[in-house]
Amino acid sequence: MSFDTLGLSPETLKAIAECGYDKPTPIQAKAIPTILMARDVVGLAQTGTGKTAGFTLPMIEALSGGRAKARMPRSLVLEPTRELAAQVAENFDTYGKYHNLSKALLVGGEAMGEQTKMLEKGVDVLIATPGRLLDLFDRGAILLNDIKILVIDEADRMLDMGFIPDIEKIVGLIPPIRQTLLFSATMPPEIKKLSDKFLTNPKEISVAPPASPAKTVEQFFVKTDRRSKSRTMVDILKREDVKNAFVFLNRKRDINPLADYLKGKGYSAGPMHGDMPQAKRNEVLQDFKDEKITLLICSDVAARGLDVQGVSHVFNFDVPMNADDYVHRIGRTGRAGRSGRSWTLVTGDDDKFLLAIEKLTDQKVSYEDIGSIKKPDKVARNPKKDRQTGKPNKKDYENKKEGPDSFGDDIPAFLKN
Ligand code: AMP
Repeated sequence: MSFDTLGLSPETLKAIAECGYDKPTPIQAKAIPTILMARDVVGLAQTGTGKTAGFTLPMIEALSGGRAKARMPRSLVLEPTRELAAQVAENFDTYGKYHNLSKALLVGGEAMGEQTKMLEKGVDVLIATPGRLLDLFDRGAILLNDIKILVIDEADRMLDMGFIPDIEKIVGLIPPIRQTLLFSATMPPEIKKLSDKFLTNPKEISVAPPASPAKTVEQFFVKTDRRSKSRTMVDILKREDVKNAFVFLNRKRDINPLADYLKGKGYSAGPMHGDMPQAKRNEVLQDFKDEKITLLICSDVAARGLDVQGVSHVFNFDVPMNADDYVHRIGRTGRAGRSGRSWTLVTGDDDKFLLAIEKLTDQKVSYEDIGSIKKPDKVARNPKKDRQTGKPNKKDYENKKEGPDSFGDDIPAFLKN
């Protein structure tokens, strides 16, 4: 199967060829002809499957004929996070470079002036996060009566983030005669309900998740303790050939101190989490993409779905409390057939989370010996016992939630919260 057979224009095919793609991914092969026929689509697919091109390519074709009126965008793509919205906007730029389509990005945390100016001129594609869109609608800066194509992307993530009421409100403002595309990695009952309510006779397209990271990423685990964690991290960095890496932490408040600590040790590191101003988040992400910084110290939410090519490593400075997050995190490397390496720092508090990871990835964790543990952890206990019973240890769970930060003594006191 090649892109030529999908019904795309020569201009779009040229833009695709320049990206170096030689054939459509399974979701593209199924979704592109269906969307070009103006049918509604429910796509069960996660990031990494090529789903973004799966909907942007046919949208570019569908929109290429008309002209947008002031404040009345012709299509709307809803995304749960600002970063995902920015990524989709980049996709429109890349694939639509030989078309003359206008687009606007409406995301929270950025000045409204530029965004409203674009809307005034009239846009073909509006890419937005739900909150900012409603905000601008309420101010009268935007009318949704001319939307012909609506995309609800990452619907299950929208649900996790509490956006479903906003989505319902937005869809209620769009004319019922339209084409609606909904993408979600999973189909919980709330999303099924949304799809039944807002889509008309949709074609259901489902693709297998991309190759499990468990197969494309070499995974290493190291035993440490809370007090030595940051030192252990540096020990690993010294022995690994790290080109660039995501470093995941469980708590936002620990992110800046770790970034500062690593910078103090001579590493080029930048923090990224939801409490940072959007402009700063964009800047750090761009620096990471441009390889100006090597280590992106981040939270799960800030890094979710981000598509950064050729990341050599992922570090779990904290073991994620949710096994799915482990798979998402390590999937930031080992993409598109490249190999990647992940390192997970494990303390005595993490047994039950590791059990869940072992179950989900169907592998047994074994530990590397890097010899950096200085003192035993005070709350360490016999991991074997818990592994056998498989029962959560209530006391440790409480420690995990309420306990001290993940840092060791080697973090300067003024950096601790
Ligand atoms: P997505 O699932 O939309 O986040 O896309 C994941 C990555 O796959 C992006 O970096 C795209 O540039 C890339 N990609 C999309 N379509 C293709 C294709 N047909 N061949 C190769 N790479 C692709």
